[in-house]
Amino acid sequence: MPLSHGRSYLAIPGPSVMPDRVLSAMHRAAPNIYTGELHEVTAALVPDLKAVARTRGEVAIYIGNGHAAWEAALANVLSPGETVLIAATGRFGIGWGEMAAGLKAHVEVIDHGQRAPVDPARVEAALRADTAGTIKAVLMCHVDTSSSVLSDVAAVRAAIDAAGHPALLMVDCIASLACDRFEMDAWGADVMVAASQKGLMTPPGLGFVFFNDRAADVQRRAGCVTSYWNWVPRARPEMFHQYFAGTAPTHHIYGLRAALDMIAEEGLEQVWARHEVLARTIWAAFEAWGATGPVALNVEDPAHRSHAVTSVGIGPGNGDRLRGWCERVAGVTLGIGLGRTPADAFFRIGHMGHVNAHMVLGVLGVVQAGLIALKIPHGDGALDAAAAVIAGAGD
Ligand SMILES: *Cc1c(COP(=O)(O)O)cnc(C)c1O
Repeated sequence: MPLSHGRSYLAIPGPSVMPDRVLSAMHRAAPNIYTGELHEVTAALVPDLKAVARTRGEVAIYIGNGHAAWEAALANVLSPGETVLIAATGRFGIGWGEMAAGLKAHVEVIDHGQRAPVDPARVEAALRADTAGTIKAVLMCHVDTSSSVLSDVAAVRAAIDAAGHPALLMVDCIASLACDRFEMDAWGADVMVAASQKGLMTPPGLGFVFFNDRAADVQRRAGCVTSYWNWVPRARPEMFHQYFAGTAPTHHIYGLRAALDMIAEEGLEQVWARHEVLARTIWAAFEAWGATGPVALNVEDPAHRSHAVTSVGIGPGNGDRLRGWCERVAGVTLGIGLGRTPADAFFRIGHMGHVNAHMVLGVLGVVQAGLIALKIPHGDGALDAAAAVIAGAGD
């Protein structure tokens, strides 16, 4: 019998759960776009976005999803015929590379598969081999959401520097921003892309491109920049109408304002710490379930697991069966095995943004019930193990 009436939980890796405070902030009449409060609210977003990204660089805001931010970042730094090196750790890295190819860039891929982080030594070797200096940028996902692999951004910066190569380091933080610790300036990222609907807890529709002085310098000489994607006017909120290249995303601005207030009130360090404990809670359960049977965390080394999303292997067919059961019976929607073969042998849990202990324990309890109902073999003690992590971290 369905037991799903009540509040549903979209436990997928984006869009994430929207706080009531974000929804309430958006529930208003259309504001005046010519002058007044909307302009002030927009300008005030900029320093708070930079604080979340840990950068003193610039940020351009686009009305678009993460794919728009991908294209915006590439269009600003590339000239026709240049090469990008993509260090892929899952489907999203490959996808960003395909977008570069669509912009007529040459794309060199270092494919790390679906379970391993970026190997800085392979990046360094590829850059050393580029004696003609044709590689314009190294692209990587901080967290690849399809695999839930987390890579070491600072180590890739060190590899680029060790090779003495001028390539820009461009990082996709769409899944990780405001979930996993990320320090744009300290770690040496030149360009970073993000979007509103994951750790930033706002509906899909805003894309962000952060860039430093080095990237700004490259952009001034780049040949692919088009007027819509050009980040220069978009980094100057005082030029309000050029800033959005047309009508402002009025309600998203208010929603994002509320979300950034929530992050500032909790404190970014505490936001990261909360995500870490909740991720460890999930891992503890899956490690116990995986003691016997087909259930297995996709990433073996905890140091390379994201705190925002967890990818799990569960055997052919079982991923879709479990997802269907959890939604139908219990009102929890889990993420698909995106980019995996076969896709129905995997599922993902999103634990990004507006997520707390009772939500995570609830999802795990539902997964336990689903494993029993579907007779999927699994080890014992998962919920005890998960509860012990929360008990050990609380207060
Ligand atoms: C979600 C996501 C994207 C794509 O974002 P869209 O808003 O769906 O276009 C790209 N990269 C990563 C790492 C993501 O998590």
